[in-house]
Amino acid sequence: MKTIAVYCGSKKGNHPAYAAMAKQVGEAFVQRNLKLVYGGGDVGLMGIVAHTALTGGAHVTGVITEFLKAIEGHYELSESIVVETMHERKTIMAERSDGFLILPGGYGTMDEFMEIITWRQLGLHDKPIGILNTNDYYTHLFMQLDKMVEDGFLSEQNRKLVFQADDVVELLDLMQGVEVL
Ligand code: AMP
Repeated sequence: MKTIAVYCGSKKGNHPAYAAMAKQVGEAFVQRNLKLVYGGGDVGLMGIVAHTALTGGAHVTGVITEFLKAIEGHYELSESIVVETMHERKTIMAERSDGFLILPGGYGTMDEFMEIITWRQLGLHDKPIGILNTNDYYTHLFMQLDKMVEDGFLSEQNRKLVFQADDVVELLDLMQGVEVL
């Protein structure tokens, strides 16, 4: 069974489309028999994805730091891994997963996306990375990535490393079309 890490907001956003999307993502894990690895919190979009996946019977692993656990850790996951540092957390999440799904979020989500795509660009892994563009949330990010290509800071080839779609079914189909997933 394959495992996908979800990187997403610790907030729910202020449009109902985001919470609805997070629920669809959790359901997709159940329907596709995928294991979920995520940041281990019971907050925001990440809480909705984890709760929905767990309720549907999916295996959910949370990787959380000691200090975050004390604030908002999810207490009834299939598996909980408590680490010391944020770097350790990102390393374990990456090692445990066969692909990475990025949903709307803030700085934390951007950090996770940028690190995992940078590692991919450097050839440190060959796992698919997909961005879910719910409610046009990442349209401006895609424009920025295109600007990086246009102005010579990013190659066309590396720009294409990012799968993108408005819908989770379409995005997972794209990602699962890749051999490693
Ligand atoms: P953001 O996209 O800025 O909301 O950040 C998502 C990231 O928030 C996660 O990956 C964590 O690093 C961090 N985070 C914030 N609060 C929590 C929490 N209660 N539980 C787990 N992770 C959290």
